[in-house]
Amino acid sequence: MKIYDVLILGAGASGLMCASHLDKSLRVAIVDINAKVAQKLKVSGGGKCNITSLHVEEGNFDGDEDFISYALNNFSKEDLLEYLSANGLEPVVRKNRYYFCKDSSDEIIDILKKNSLHVEKFLNTKILSTSKKDNIFEVKTNKQILKAKKLIVATGGKSFVTLGASEIGLDIAKSFDIKVKEFSPALVGLTVQPEQFWMKELSGLSCYVHIKVDDKILKEDLLFAHKGISGPAVLSASLYWRKGNLAIDFLPNENILELINGSKKLVSSVINLPKRLSKAILKALHVEDIECKKLTKEMMINLEKIHNYQFAPAGNFGFTKAEVSRGGVLTSELNLATFEALHVEGLHFIGEVVDVTGELGGYNFQWAFSSGVTCAQNIK
Ligand SMILES: Cc1cc2nc3c(=O)[nH]c(=O)nc-3n(C[C@H](O)[C@H](O)[C@H](O)COP(=O)(O)OP(=O)(O)OC[C@H]3O[C@@H](n4cnc5c(N)ncnc54)[C@H](O)[C@@H]3O)c2cc1C
Repeated sequence: MKIYDVLILGAGASGLMCASHLDKSLRVAIVDINAKVAQKLKVSGGGKCNITSLHVEEGNFDGDEDFISYALNNFSKEDLLEYLSANGLEPVVRKNRYYFCKDSSDEIIDILKKNSLHVEKFLNTKILSTSKKDNIFEVKTNKQILKAKKLIVATGGKSFVTLGASEIGLDIAKSFDIKVKEFSPALVGLTVQPEQFWMKELSGLSCYVHIKVDDKILKEDLLFAHKGISGPAVLSASLYWRKGNLAIDFLPNENILELINGSKKLVSSVINLPKRLSKAILKALHVEDIECKKLTKEMMINLEKIHNYQFAPAGNFGFTKAEVSRGGVLTSELNLATFEALHVEGLHFIGEVVDVTGELGGYNFQWAFSSGVTCAQNIK
């Protein structure tokens, strides 16, 4: 039976990037349950793939900072853009922050496919389990047993099972006694408690906010949804929110006391938000929508909370809506320079299956690519 030098489990962002950076003299194969590679890349960023961000720092990720910074420095945003440029792709910057493909995710997928042409592909193939005997890894699939000297687990998280996602990466880690943190949904909308049901009635409206969770402040749009709250700011906030309060500043670029100062207008008229939203916020803050100059001291104190509306969400929209999974193989179990398991020679974990998760904005692909390249460079 053929023994590959390297077998990559998962033909997603990290697996393909790793494959395309492996030494071409190695005999490499890649396995995926889907009929086509890179299915998450394909649908990402509304079909245009948010590849990375203008500013990429460890602080944009949930996970061990030293571990994250090693890979991000080794294959940085600049290195990624250079690699793409050398392959004919010049991403466009949107919202002054995010790099996207110009027209379609296929632009980046085609590069990854072209650069991994030398890699044997086993598609429509479900990975069932792995084991190691006499220094050779055996991977049992629904079709065959594959053997390799080195195994790279790039099976991602468990969000969006419709795109092939599974927990097999964690199962593999556990079968080798490698510690993991169970997956939980992240970059996901948040449900609300009855006191915040007013938000559900605003479904479809959005506004620019600052959301504070612990020591993080997420600055982006919030979208009111019929299940609760969503939009970029909320999705990123969900990465850091565990339980308890978060705080929203609905008017981050203004000072409410300056806006109302001596004005004869109705309070809802001086607030620079959609009228329906202003009125709903006032109600939630127990402030009457009267002439500004008639506001009582108590109402003014309440009104100031428009900059610091604190509440505890009820939960989140779950794995079917979550863009990523938080948790994964503990970084303390991996060598930060090679992504190899400290106690299992030849076994590597890269991408989302590792306990590192980025905010919304291209950070998760940056991590998938940085970890994939760093791992590949260390396999001889
Ligand atoms: C709708 C959506 C939009 C997103 N948009 C963005 C974005 O614009 N920017 C961004 O940075 N991030 C985005 N993300 C997150 C990003 O897609 C992931 O973080 C990234 O793909 C992780 O790369 P990975 O290689 O670790 O895993 P994946 O890309 O998920 O690849 C894992 C592969 O393993 C395969 N696999 C899993 N289990 C098995 C099994 N048992 N047998 C065989 N194969 C298996 C899967 O089919 C998959 O192809 C988005 C996610 C979703 C769901």
